Amino acid sequence: MTIADNYRSIRNELDQVCIDNGRTPEDVMLLAVSKTTDADGVAQAIDGGAHDFGENRPDQLLEKSNEFPGENWHFIGNIQSRRIGDIVSRAHLIHSLYSEKHARLINDHAEKFDKIQDCLIEVNVSGEVSKSGIAPEELPGFLELCEGLDNISIRGLMTMAPQGDLEIAQKTFHDLRVLKDDVAAKMNPQMRNSFTELSMGMSEDWVPAVIEGSTIIRVGRAIFSEKFII
Ligand SMILES: *Cc1c(COP(=O)(O)O)cnc(C)c1O
Repeated sequence: MTIADNYRSIRNELDQVCIDNGRTPEDVMLLAVSKTTDADGVAQAIDGGAHDFGENRPDQLLEKSNEFPGENWHFIGNIQSRRIGDIVSRAHLIHSLYSEKHARLINDHAEKFDKIQDCLIEVNVSGEVSKSGIAPEELPGFLELCEGLDNISIRGLMTMAPQGDLEIAQKTFHDLRVLKDDVAAKMNPQMRNSFTELSMGMSEDWVPAVIEGSTIIRVGRAIFSEKFII
């Protein structure tokens, strides 16, 4: 199997899982997480039909988006204040916002670039200490802060599930969706209309994520690694 084949086969599986669960395939994006591959791997994924890519390091985001400026480059990694200008200069969507300080800095840079930066808020649903993200109970306050930032648009929520148990993962995804519905119900209509995304599910757990309402699955190894077997 080539990278292009891998991408096509996961996209086909994803379409089927959507249909089996009463969802519309077009409503779920397959984000190709290219952090472990090089430009050649990206080119192969594009051959397979990929147009949205995820990177977790600003340097890689810059390098690969320079090489493939026509694709959508998502930032899914840990945000550092001093790299926010680089991230905002390229990111189609930032998946990993959870600090108020970073929200303000993203807003400042976005204003300079004359853009509205789309962001997702990363939530630590499972409460694992090793996971980043804000606690669910902090979400309403965080959203209120973001509402006051004119150059940020909060498009939804992101989470990472604990690894190793698909039932626990599914529960985590379920909880994120419930949280999203809860906070959306309290938003003004304009904010609610753009608050549509749930970025959840990776190579090992994207099926339960789609069942629970994911709109973006972030898949790395299952596309780019020869060794990945599920
Ligand atoms: C690496 C990464 C992924 C992809 O993980 P795989 O298990 O390789 O599919 C998804 N999301 C984030 C935030 C990542 O860092």
